[in-house]
Amino acid sequence: MKPKLALLIVIAFAFTGCSHIHSRSSSDNACTDEVKTALFFNNIIEGESPNIAQLNLFFSEMPKGGDLHHHYSGSIYVETYLDWAETNNQFIDTKTLKISKDKTDTTVTVNELRSDTELYRRLLTLWSDKDYSNHYHLQLPPDANFFKTFGYFGYVSGSYEKGLLVLKERAIKENVSYIETMIKSVGYSYPDTVFDENIRNNSGDEEVFSLLDGQSSKIDGKALFKKTINDFIVGIEKAHENVSVDDDQFMMRYQTYASRNSTPSKVFSALYAAFKAVETSELLVGVNFVGPENGAVAIADYKLHMQFFAYLRKRFPGVNVALHAGELTLGMVRPKNLKFHISQALHIAGAQRIGHGVDLPYEEDAIDLLEEIKKNTVVEINFTSNEFILGVKGQEHPYLIYSVYDVPIVICTDDSGVSRNNLSREYVLLASRYKPSYKTVKKYAYNSIKYSFLSEGDKETLIKSLDDRFEKFESEMVKYSDQILK
Ligand SMILES: [Zn+2]
Repeated sequence: MKPKLALLIVIAFAFTGCSHIHSRSSSDNACTDEVKTALFFNNIIEGESPNIAQLNLFFSEMPKGGDLHHHYSGSIYVETYLDWAETNNQFIDTKTLKISKDKTDTTVTVNELRSDTELYRRLLTLWSDKDYSNHYHLQLPPDANFFKTFGYFGYVSGSYEKGLLVLKERAIKENVSYIETMIKSVGYSYPDTVFDENIRNNSGDEEVFSLLDGQSSKIDGKALFKKTINDFIVGIEKAHENVSVDDDQFMMRYQTYASRNSTPSKVFSALYAAFKAVETSELLVGVNFVGPENGAVAIADYKLHMQFFAYLRKRFPGVNVALHAGELTLGMVRPKNLKFHISQALHIAGAQRIGHGVDLPYEEDAIDLLEEIKKNTVVEINFTSNEFILGVKGQEHPYLIYSVYDVPIVICTDDSGVSRNNLSREYVLLASRYKPSYKTVKKYAYNSIKYSFLSEGDKETLIKSLDDRFEKFESEMVKYSDQILK
């Protein structure tokens, strides 16, 4: 060891000790490795231009625990979807760039598409965010481009067994041990125009709850309701077991969801089915709410939607809820709509985790809210997604508020296929932009298991695995840094 590095380590021990906060056994060696890894990490992030190449290597190797804000269909890369379309003998329509099961005058095979560089590149920009920022082309606004991608690959994304394996293999390669993915909605819908009118004209909580009581009794009487939930659960459980998703290296659990941009009766029936499904299956661990939060219906019915969650949480107290909330920023909606989304997700819907939470600085009583978020919930941070969809990044991102206020944070990918990122990259953005300590970075990795919706037993297993993985990682990093820090 070089004398300078040895001295730094002695100083680091003297002032900080060895944190090793999560280890079950802290040998002196592991402790030294942790301190030396922290010093190496400081070395590569210091200065005005952090060493991104070294950070890419560091975080690709580092165990990252789980990815808790993860959309199944948005996490698979376009190239994989095209492989599936090819295997299914499907075609690509050159006019719409959508998949077609029939050959027509305007379709080409996937292979023909790949040979036509211009068309292929065009498809990549529509099916994902690829080349959006660095390539001049006529394109929709970023949020519209993002949400529209799902309409292109939705047709093939239902190959769950293949998809779960793709996600598992990718996760193992980048040292991710757990994914909690929003896989799909249950698929039940009960439109009811009378209910829609009554509930939108409600006189308060009491009437909302009474109307929801009536509506859920009606839905309970529908044979299709039970059948749809049952088919949904069987489909997921079969896919999970058939490809042996869980093993000693990796686990996956599922959230289901409803879309927030529909009539009240459709939203409620979809949510009711989601809660019932999660209550029934151990593999389903939570309910979420998806779709653009700035959509016209999502904005108009926001409070009503939160009341739906309040009602369902009361009926199904064991069902976990994570909500996209505050995925908004100034200019995207009117200022008044930035005042209450996180607050109502927390106070009315009782969300245990907040997805994004970007509008925090604009919320009513933001400082009191921050204290409540810290006590009662966790914020799922998605840097790439926020930068693309909202244009919020760097010194404007509320990570700067959440982190300094010590709010529990997890680092997530959101839609790594559409965004063409991965969890390691999100950590690189974290480190290069905000320069947290290595101890903080480790805390976020452990948070991703601690605040998951896994059972306590499963959490314990994954925490132990994380301890071992960090011990191995730090020992490797010490060897590496000894070579290069001269
Ligand atoms: Zn999301």
